Amino acid sequence: MRRLLLALQAQGVTDPGVLAAIEKTPRDLFTPDLFKERSFEDSALPIACGQTISQPYIVGLMTQALTLEPRARVLEIGTGSGYQTAVLARLSRLVYTVERYRTLMREAEARFKTLQLTNIITKFGDGGLGWPEQAPFDRIMVTAAAPAEPTALLTQLKPSGVLVAPIGKGPVQQLCRYAGDGKGGFSKDVLCEVRFVPLLDGVAREP
Ligand code: SAH
Repeated sequence: MRRLLLALQAQGVTDPGVLAAIEKTPRDLFTPDLFKERSFEDSALPIACGQTISQPYIVGLMTQALTLEPRARVLEIGTGSGYQTAVLARLSRLVYTVERYRTLMREAEARFKTLQLTNIITKFGDGGLGWPEQAPFDRIMVTAAAPAEPTALLTQLKPSGVLVAPIGKGPVQQLCRYAGDGKGGFSKDVLCEVRFVPLLDGVAREP
């Protein structure tokens, strides 16, 4: 874990709160048996349903870019293993997370219980639509690649909110940060290039 935290710091993840949240989150709880011993390497790993648990550096970078506050209500799209969700939950008041695979969602829920993270609310559904009943959110994070600007999600963001998402149709996407100007407009910054699995329409038919 020490070595992983040093690697993250060397790459620019320097926010003490973000580093502490990563330190407190045992990544080996979120990785499949086959890859357990690689849990503290700085790499993405395969999980069930053909999906991936994100690289710790990217989790750190995206969490830092979200500029969380302890009172924030956060929407996350793409629960996956739940690792990023758990990191977000340590830095915000409430995390709403949406996943389109029921199996992944159930496994993630069990992990949140084990870690006694009681401020996470899960939903099985198409995250591309956001969670209108709970909107607006202070922060939104998308952990699957949106093919174009996520307009539905931007409408569910508070006027001074922040949304971080990988955007692009190909295997390499741009990690984008949208920041509200408080008057209904948004500025957009491109942070770096990333490789995420695609944000797909609808829910998965498989379990
Ligand atoms: N943050 C996760 C990353 C998982 S990969 C982790 O660290 O483990 C991206 C996830 O987004 C996958 O689980 C995939 O099933 C999910 N996903 C893709 N499209 C989606 C959609 N439209 N709605 C909800 N989840 C979606």
